[in-house]
Amino acid sequence: MGKKFGWASLSLWPRRCTIIAAIAALALLPIEGSNAGRLQEIFKGAPKHGKSPKHVASRKPAKSAKHATSPKPHAVKLAALGPVALNPPASKPAATMCDPSKFRIVVDVGHTAESEGATSARNVAEFVFNLRLARRIEEKLKAEGFAETRLLVTAGKARPSLFRRVAAASDLHANLFLSIHHDSVPDKLLENWEFEGKKSHFSDRFSGYSVWVSRENADFKTSLLFAELVAKEMKAQGLEYAHQYTQPIMGHYQHPLLNKETGVYSYDQLVVLRTNRIPAVLLEAGSIINRDEELKMISPERQDIIAGGVTAAVKEFCDSRWAILGPL
Ligand SMILES: [Zn+2]
Repeated sequence: MGKKFGWASLSLWPRRCTIIAAIAALALLPIEGSNAGRLQEIFKGAPKHGKSPKHVASRKPAKSAKHATSPKPHAVKLAALGPVALNPPASKPAATMCDPSKFRIVVDVGHTAESEGATSARNVAEFVFNLRLARRIEEKLKAEGFAETRLLVTAGKARPSLFRRVAAASDLHANLFLSIHHDSVPDKLLENWEFEGKKSHFSDRFSGYSVWVSRENADFKTSLLFAELVAKEMKAQGLEYAHQYTQPIMGHYQHPLLNKETGVYSYDQLVVLRTNRIPAVLLEAGSIINRDEELKMISPERQDIIAGGVTAAVKEFCDSRWAILGPL
């Protein structure tokens, strides 16, 4: 089943994979001050329905009082910087609320019943964790008015399922793709123990969530912004991110850390992140090979915390998108 290929592409581990992939379609930041201008740039440049981002050159001239009254030297300086510098600072949008009933997010359940991803310290398949948490996220989003939320459960072998996920998101004209996974460790770090009379494996060495994007996604900037929103919400809930992916011990599983405050990494070749034409993010919700964290991930309390954080991130994203681009 193309273990080497498929799994490596699907998640971080060939065997005990784990990546909660959440992929999002349009992202936003905790818009404060200067961020708003950046968001505006991104949304204006963002493709509609997954087309390649257009060059963000046609920017409206600055219309804020501040810019309009700038002294000449300042204006010259701005002109020298090009169109981007003319972008007005984040003025407060007239309508700041999105219409969640029209926002389409695909919540992708990582792996399949046939190709289940990682195995937990207590021998439960990652797919089971992914499905349970993704359902909780779906419920929470729908309860908040995101009626068009779609839970994406894919069947079959690993690698073909990846492309079916991307095709499904396209068919649904989704605005955002979020893939849900749970983390593990490379096989060389596994230790033995016995659980319920069965030889089992664990590693208590690492724990935490992580959020992933591909710099090769057609709308990387928006993917990154949504990833940062999700990661920010995870951190705000008191959770800590998995720091090990920058460490040499991870060997070829090392990946660049894009946001060292909140835990956003890039995994450029990951199929669902790279080939999606819409903003896409993958969330590794937590480690299920860590014995303590596995128990936490099973608890309804932890699932609610994560689902609540994801929902808050989607709301922030949607609000910002709505304010800048208008109705969907
Ligand atoms: Zn996985």
